[in-house]
Amino acid sequence: MPSFVIAEKCDGCKGQDKTACMYACPNDLMMLDKEAMKATNLDPSQCWECLCCVKACPQQAMDVRGYADFVPLGASVTPLRGSDSIMWTVKFRNGMTKRFKFPIRTTEEGSAVPDAGYEITTDINSHELYTEPASMHMPVWTYKK
Ligand code: SF4
Ligand code: SF4
Repeated sequence: MPSFVIAEKCDGCKGQDKTACMYACPNDLMMLDKEAMKATNLDPSQCWECLCCVKACPQQAMDVRGYADFVPLGASVTPLRGSDSIMWTVKFRNGMTKRFKFPIRTTEEGSAVPDAGYEITTDINSHELYTEPASMHMPVWTYKK
């Protein structure tokens, strides 16, 4: 199940040009509707459930199905990210709640180099961007407002 926005909790990151979920999504799926001040997942069929947006949202307004190896059927999971750790709260279907805290950083916050020294292409015709979404037999989808 792809990520989704819990509309009642989303405050649109207070109308910033780039919201936390837009910044975090590696697939550029998140978009802010500035009139409604709510974010939305533009193409759920392209969401790979990486949980980045869920972890980044300051309002805990993003949700996604937890992976079955740590979230059994009927349970839900909520991450709460700190600067050096992340707390996962799992609510089980029998009402039991468990929390797991893990360290998340090996470098100081803000010190990671986004391209890690590799060259990143900006050429839309580059073979490095070849195949998706056609190779996945998905329609090419364009957002128009
Ligand atoms: S990060 Fe959360 S609060 Fe901010 S726009 Fe996205 S869903 Fe809404
Ligand atoms: S779960 Fe990952 S791929 Fe899906 S919308 Fe969130 S950040 Fe993007």
